Parts: sequence; C-alpha cells; structure tokens
Amino acid sequence: MMPIKYSPLQPDSNERLKAATATQQIKDILERVAVNSLYQTLTQKDRDLLFDEGYAGTLIDNLVFLTLRSYDSDGHYSDDIVVGLNDFAVDPSLYSSRYVKQHFTAMNHCRCAYCETYIPSSGVVCHIRPPVVLKNNNKIQQSPYGVLAYDYENLVLICSDCYTEKSGVFPLISEKFRGDVTKEQPLLLNPFNDSTREFIRFNPITGLAFALDAVKDFAKDTFHLSESELESELYNNPNFVPSQLYGCDKSALAIPSSDNDKAFSKWMIDKKLSSYRGFETIRYLNLNRSFLLIERRAHINSIACCGQKIDDSELNKELADSEIIAWFEHQLGYVHRFQSLTIDCFRFWLQQYNISATSNEVKKNNTKNATVDSEESESFPIKLSRPKLNEKAFIPEWIQSLLMYMVIESELTMGNKRRIISLRNSDYLYGTDNDQKCVFLPIDWQGDFENVIKVRDSQHTWETSFSELAASIPLEVLQIFSSAEVWAEGDYAPLVKTP
Ligand SMILES: [Zn+2]
Repeated sequence: MMPIKYSPLQPDSNERLKAATATQQIKDILERVAVNSLYQTLTQKDRDLLFDEGYAGTLIDNLVFLTLRSYDSDGHYSDDIVVGLNDFAVDPSLYSSRYVKQHFTAMNHCRCAYCETYIPSSGVVCHIRPPVVLKNNNKIQQSPYGVLAYDYENLVLICSDCYTEKSGVFPLISEKFRGDVTKEQPLLLNPFNDSTREFIRFNPITGLAFALDAVKDFAKDTFHLSESELESELYNNPNFVPSQLYGCDKSALAIPSSDNDKAFSKWMIDKKLSSYRGFETIRYLNLNRSFLLIERRAHINSIACCGQKIDDSELNKELADSEIIAWFEHQLGYVHRFQSLTIDCFRFWLQQYNISATSNEVKKNNTKNATVDSEESESFPIKLSRPKLNEKAFIPEWIQSLLMYMVIESELTMGNKRRIISLRNSDYLYGTDNDQKCVFLPIDWQGDFENVIKVRDSQHTWETSFSELAASIPLEVLQIFSSAEVWAEGDYAPLVKTP
C-alpha cells in the first residue's frame, strides 16, 4: 500500500445539493425511528405512515432490524435490537457516479488503493467509514457514520476483491470514541492520510506483506535494534520477519518459518498484535490472499528481469523511492502496480549487491593472481533473486511458492504419481480441520526435478517438466493449472501403507 495524494472533487452545485438533501434524509429517518417505538414493528402500516410523513421510498423500503451493541466506559457491552437502514438505502448514483470513479481512478493512477493491483476500469468506490451497516466483532450494527454516506472524503477506490474484504468494516483501536471522527483511532490504514510504508512492507522474495510496525517493536525490545539498523537487517535477511506477522494461514501457503518465530512468540506474551495497524490492515483486507501473491510473485519476476539493465553508476546513487518507481516503470513500459513491493525488491537487491561487491573486492585483494569470474560477481540482480539451488534446477521463486503436491484421501497409498496444484484462495479451506480430505505437501525441487509431469486437458494428455514450466510465461503456466489436471510421475513415498 502506497500513500496517495488526495485531490478534492469539484462537483457542480446540482450534485452538491442532491448529496446534502440525501444526507439530511438519512439523518432524519434514523432519528425518527429511534425515538418512536411505533416503528419498531416495521409493519406495512408503519412504512405507510413514514411515507405520509414525507420520507423517501428508497429509505423506507430499506429499513431493517439490526442488532446494536453499546459499550460502557469499562468496555462492557449490551445488545439491543433496533430499526436501521441496510446498504441499499445509500444511492450509488451520488457517491459512485462515472465522474467520481474517473476522478479516483486518475488519483490512484489506476491502482487499487489497498492492494495496488492494476484496475484501469474495474475499480469499486467504497466508503472508508461504512455509512449504514457496520460489521463489528462479527456483529452487524447500525453505523454511526450515516452522515458520511455522500462525503467524498469518506470514499476510496479499490478492487472488487478488497471490496469484499472491506465492505462494512471499520475497526478501531478502542470502541470508546466510535462515531466521533475527530477522536476515534482507526486500525485500518488510510492511504490518503497515513504514511503507509511505515506500517506495511513486503518480503522481496516471497511477495508477502508484513506488519513493519510490529517488527519494529519486536526488534527494538528483543535485539535492541534502532529503526535504521532494522531497515538494514530486513534487506540483508528478509527471513528476519517472524512468520506470525504475515497474518495468514502458514500451512495453506507453505510459508517457511523464520529463525525468530520462537523469540517472537515469547515477545508476544504481553503484547497485543491486534493493536498494530499494519498487522490489522493486512488481516482485515486479507492482503496476503493467495491470488494476490501469484500476481506479486509474477511482478517480482518481471522486475528482476528488468533489473538486469541497471548499471553500476545507478547502483551507486542514492535513489529516492519515487526515482526507483520511475526507473522501473520506464523500463517495464507499463505502470503503477505493486509500487511498494518494487521499492522493497530494489532495496533488497541493492543491499545484496553491495555485500557481494564488497566480498568480491576482498576476494580480489586476497587472490591477486586468480581470475574472478565477472559473470559470477556482477550479474545484477537476477542472480541474487534466484533460489539457492543447483544451477540445473532453477525455477523462479514465484512458481516454486505457488505449486504444491496435493494428495486426496483415496490416493494416500499411491506411490507412483502425485497431483500438482497451483494454490488459490479456496485452498484456505483445507489443512486446518481434523477431518481434512486432502493433504498439501511441498514439492522437492531438487529431488523431483527430473520427474515427468503429465498434463491432461479436455482433448489429450501431454508431457512436460519443471524446467519447461519455468521457461514459460507466468500466465501460460497459470492457465495450465486452471484448465487441466496435472501430476508428476515418479517414486514417491506413499502417505499410508497399503493394508
Ligand atoms: Zn485491492
């Protein structure tokens, strides 16, 4: 998530008047039903009465029963059933018109304001503070933000996946000031107001988003690292980040453990992860959902290829974040997605390059007569982004981290073949319950590299290999896994011995 410079909308006076009237109507009808128990039954007669009193039909039709939760100063709460409005009560022609969408799309440079995917035309206008229904702690309640339904500063343009996660949600650090926008402390980051990179960064190898705010406190308390020391440490060793901070199901996404996981669990004993805005934003918006990871890994692959064109003079310059973005966008010929990830990849490569340059310098000085392979020492940064495997088994990391073996219940005794699948969002469904119907296993990239891979689509079956897949373009590989059955043939250990 990158900060976005807000540019105010300039609606004409007609639009302004319509928005003001609609806002007043929402305010009035909510006050009306709140004070008169007559309407608590919501019969047709009640609705007719409201209509006679002059309220808009759209609002009356969308009055529903809601559970309202109220908190006292000690944090205790009680629930009450009240009449409130549902989402359809807000008129999208006023807050999500073509004009508004175009304005926000241009302001966001065609990106989702949250996940940074490229959405030149498919963006959805979403309320930052939900105006009618608030989903809070798994309860639905009447939102206190009704008057912000047509407030342009309460809008954000996002992709449809982020919309699914965000819709109706606006968590706060404490419920105490809920509804008082000048006092409440939001947990979700706002790309228009917050320095988002202070809270969320990306692992330059796996593309996973992590909570930098929590890492900072952990590193300070546990290793006494200052912010600049931590910055350097993160680019030197991305695996420093405790895997708990990715805020997603580790087993489903095959996220490797970090050396710091144990220390982090210990540190966590008297901390509340739910008070970290970076962590909660990743969790609420599901910023490590698997389909997003596929796209991020494909992006890492393309910027790694384009990074080869960086020459030494550029590497020695102190580049600002905006200069890094501009350089990559110029080289790639397309723009604007995953900017924050691009910055993290570049800074990681730069640090790795400097380390390898320094160590080569030392090597050169120590072995004056030996020839140093210039390919070895200077290829930047593609060599550095490769996994540490032997040369013949090079598979881009984004492919490695997507593909897994899947063994279904009826195939537990099988040893001659193993299904290969590409992880998707729905795979979160597996792997946590005791009665799970299938098992995911990591692919042994060294041991199974020579095994034959078979692909069966609707017409025929054909053979391929990991090396062939690695040489294909990412979208083609994804296409194979979405439209065909894929398995590897080899000598595998059965998970259950034949009875
Ligand atoms: Zn998004």
